[in-house]
Amino acid sequence: MAMREPVRHAGNEPLYQAVELSVLARRWGVPLHLHAQGLRGTGKTTVLRAARPLLPPIRRIRGCLFNCDPRRPHCPEHRGLEPERLEAIGSEEVPTPFLEISASAKIGTVVGTIDLGRLAADRPALLPGTIAQAHRGILFIDEINRLADVAPELADVLLDVMGTRPGRLQIEEAGLPRVELPVNVTVWAASNPDEEPGPLEEVRRQLADRFDLLVHMGRPSDPGAVEAILRRDPLAEAAAGGASPAEAAAGAGGEAFAPLRAALGRESVPAPDGWLRSLLAAVYTRFGLESLRTVEAWQLAARLEALRRGRPRVEGDELLATLPLVLSGRMSPEEQVEVARFLREPALLEEPLRRAAPAGRAEEPRAEASRPGAGGPAAAPAGTPGEAAAGEEGWLRRMLGRLGGGQPAEAGLSSAAASPAASGGPGGGGEAASRQGLPPAWAPPGRARPWHLVPPDERFREARPEP
Ligand SMILES: [Zn+2]
Repeated sequence: MAMREPVRHAGNEPLYQAVELSVLARRWGVPLHLHAQGLRGTGKTTVLRAARPLLPPIRRIRGCLFNCDPRRPHCPEHRGLEPERLEAIGSEEVPTPFLEISASAKIGTVVGTIDLGRLAADRPALLPGTIAQAHRGILFIDEINRLADVAPELADVLLDVMGTRPGRLQIEEAGLPRVELPVNVTVWAASNPDEEPGPLEEVRRQLADRFDLLVHMGRPSDPGAVEAILRRDPLAEAAAGGASPAEAAAGAGGEAFAPLRAALGRESVPAPDGWLRSLLAAVYTRFGLESLRTVEAWQLAARLEALRRGRPRVEGDELLATLPLVLSGRMSPEEQVEVARFLREPALLEEPLRRAAPAGRAEEPRAEASRPGAGGPAAAPAGTPGEAAAGEEGWLRRMLGRLGGGQPAEAGLSSAAASPAASGGPGGGGEAASRQGLPPAWAPPGRARPWHLVPPDERFREARPEP
């Protein structure tokens, strides 16, 4: 059956973003694990599977079922071979592996077995399982919460595979020495937290924490997206052999992934710099994050986000645009807003507030229009305090919409309708306005001093009102 290209809309935009970041990471040989959580019928698995044709092919040693990189062979058969021998075997280009395992999979099939019929004298002969065959590619697991529940031994294997970059796979056979293989596999998982046995973090918290990015899938929230879905004609698509003429013209992956296709062609990933490191270190210590993986994943995701957007370096935009993906499995929406507010202190970001809008389709055009062109640090935030207040409110709305499916937005923002008169000055208007009516947890930090005026030992202390 031909696969229908899903429609990209505000409700599934975070999933598209996460998939694109993970595909970009894969292109550079690094796993960025992603977990899509959401109700049935929100198209999680459709979007994940639709990304498959976009994965760039890999080059492997000819015929190697473990997908040995000719420059770094790792399988028992090829590692340690002389370069001349490897050259004689040759190499081939194959599609990036995309393999699926289900909750009912047998552990031997997933992990692999030692081939008792071919036990060589000096090296183990293995029959590779699904994970070993997914090396340098994607391992897709639908209903991962169910897998963690009914197959805890498979969950243990995943913990090992996802524990480090790259991970490791241990193959055991009674009475034989254990074989260990490095595996570089990106895990994509989907689950419905409302179905048995409940959310993954409650079934197996450790496994939930292994995912670098967590996406909460929403329903389309604007009528335009629903109309776009209704505009499709299944009868015409069936007549055209499964894909609509427009989809056929758009080629593999459809139009929805056009931004990713452009980013895949870029030749370098923006480098992490001292600014980014010190900011993430400050977030880690100040907000008491549980796991170092969080800031590692965030740094990686923000760099890939910059790559995705075609920016030369990571700035505040990229940190904020990836914040919900990285933090939503680890913090409450209120805590995430606190982190976002901390990051948005102008002195930290040295960026006008309005630049912080996450790249979404539903964004009002003004946010883009008010963006200073090539403005360096000297470029002043444009607009009146009133506009700043409106921008602040719009930003919070978008942020909260992405964080918790929209519930907190109703709680906090209805009374935060900004009165421009409440603004105290340029840059202060937004804070003054959004402080009104917000629960205490969302109260913005004190007014920031310019970064260069803050003594180094005070830079990451709790923000307090100025004397
Ligand atoms: Zn090999």
